[in-house]
Amino acid sequence: MSRRTGSVIRLKRSVIAYPQGDRLYLNVTNTCSLRCSFCPKTGGDWRIGGRHLRLQHEPTLEEIVAAVGDPGAYREVVFAGLGEPTMRLYTVLEAGKEIRRLGGRVRLDTDGLANLRHDRDITADLEGHIDALSVSLNAQDDSTYNRYCRPRHAHSRGAVLDFADRACDFVPEVTLTAIAGLPGVDLAACEGIAATMGADFRQRTLGVID
Ligand code: SF4
Repeated sequence: MSRRTGSVIRLKRSVIAYPQGDRLYLNVTNTCSLRCSFCPKTGGDWRIGGRHLRLQHEPTLEEIVAAVGDPGAYREVVFAGLGEPTMRLYTVLEAGKEIRRLGGRVRLDTDGLANLRHDRDITADLEGHIDALSVSLNAQDDSTYNRYCRPRHAHSRGAVLDFADRACDFVPEVTLTAIAGLPGVDLAACEGIAATMGADFRQRTLGVID
């Protein structure tokens, strides 16, 4: 089913694992709970870094682990987009556990809306499965967040903050992120919000895999 093309693992024509710098990125779902206006996918473009990331089908746990190969070969293995990895939360967590068992460091990039979607606090379930969490805060206030991320629930940004705060109890490294250069996004304010909960902050550049 899967085949190796250079160091990029493809599922038929779907890229599920690809190296970038010293990290390996995993692409495990097409689905999202946001429709971010800045996202290429929202405009119908599924390419990131020149790779087409629309999956033909969602990879199984076994396919994900096989696609990683030796996780120790990378600085970290990152569950990322273009979809939202926590749409497949328990497959991701099982894969994370196995990648860690094989000697890898695991990061999960997320919209931070898993608690809202599951209608319960899932942050304790992260413990022991991932090493680092990167949460897209994206904006310093609700109106800016809603303008860019277009969530289904108007109170989503509050849910993101609550998720990140609770996750600090179960994940060794929690980082909030926001994208530089979007009009109205106050990066300094976002960094200050991260500091109040004891999380790190990283500003991102649109279209750059980091
Ligand atoms: S959550 Fe990520 S993948 Fe989904 S629409 Fe927003 S930027 Fe795109």
